[in-house]
Amino acid sequence: MVKIELSISQNNRYAISIESGITKRLGKIINKNYPDASRIYVITDKNVELHHRATLLDGMNCLDLAVDLYAIDPGEQSKTVHTVEKIWRYLIDKGCQRRDVIVAFGGGVVTDIVGLAACTFMRGIPYVNVPTSLLGQLDAAIGSKVAVNHECGKNLIGAFYHPDAVYIDPELLRTLSMDEIRNGLSEAIKVAIISSESMVANIENKLSSIHNGNFLSLERIIANSIKAKIDFIKPDLFENELKRALNFGHTFGHALETIASYKGIRHGEAVAIGMATALRMSNGKGFCSKEISKRLIKLIFDSGLPIFPNEGTPSDIWKALSIIQKVRNGYFHEVLPTGVGTYTFYDEITEEDIYRYMYTGQDLEKK
Ligand code: NAD
Repeated sequence: MVKIELSISQNNRYAISIESGITKRLGKIINKNYPDASRIYVITDKNVELHHRATLLDGMNCLDLAVDLYAIDPGEQSKTVHTVEKIWRYLIDKGCQRRDVIVAFGGGVVTDIVGLAACTFMRGIPYVNVPTSLLGQLDAAIGSKVAVNHECGKNLIGAFYHPDAVYIDPELLRTLSMDEIRNGLSEAIKVAIISSESMVANIENKLSSIHNGNFLSLERIIANSIKAKIDFIKPDLFENELKRALNFGHTFGHALETIASYKGIRHGEAVAIGMATALRMSNGKGFCSKEISKRLIKLIFDSGLPIFPNEGTPSDIWKALSIIQKVRNGYFHEVLPTGVGTYTFYDEITEEDIYRYMYTGQDLEKK
């Protein structure tokens, strides 16, 4: 088992435990940590319920307490205040009290929604995250950001509210589709590129095993990603700083998601194209060697992720980027890797750059 602590402040910290099969021990863990709870409320989505209801309830059958399970519709379209309202209603109808505990059992959509519901119900009740998607395990369930979408923007309504604990069970990934594995892998690659040679090499070495369905080989990738993510977020837990290394691939990625209206392209795919664009640009602007840019773009490509957009034009992307630039006080703060584990922030992006580095790939690789 790998145990990692995230300190919010001196007296406020929580543990993230990574252990294959930990779901089977959840009941014992909850018994020990919540002796005063009268009921456990598991909130999941209907896909995860279908695959893992039995495992979860088995793991909880040692509890003297009643366990209740509530499943929302799966997918991003559920990430609304309306779903949060339904969860409030469910908790009220079941008589949920402050000492009870909520378990968010699902991907990033579930942990984001449940975190917001827990934060707002009775001015805040405890919740634990048991993320079931790769993106959830190495990213969404870690940190304190909880949110739902609004018609005017993604994750517009939210808060910083951290879970009491996070329990990560890589065995749950067995039922996740390969597309969703790749979606999560994109974030792992992002963190590895801005962190260290050993993290990049570890992903390169594990790719064929992951493609062969050996998802347990993701355990170290998950642990490395979480540790590195924590090192990045710790100095600025509430995201006051606009220059953020973790935004690598996200500026162009966000522009792509915006022009696609967040439909038809997964977040991880958009970030993959964003990272490939930033790597080409970094080489083109003289920040990064051709050898390193090529190696890292190959890693993205070999993971089965896209490195060029299928849709949109440089002009569409440029318009979307201009909005991002405004939000960032007139700067792009684009993260350009200068090597493996090193990077710089760049602001002089032009529309011509989008054409050269996002849509044509210049001389690094051809479409
Ligand atoms: P998701 O929760 O929609 O899960 C993807 C799909 O996989 C869903 O259909 C889900 O039902 C299914 N699924 C999940 N676990 C499964 C399993 N073990 N077996 C079979 N199917 C399973 O999406 P996601 O990619 O996990 O997360 C994306 C969300 O996370 C976005 O809303 C994003 O905004 C949010 N996010 C939040 C943070 C944060 O810091 N709070 C960070 C990154 C992403």
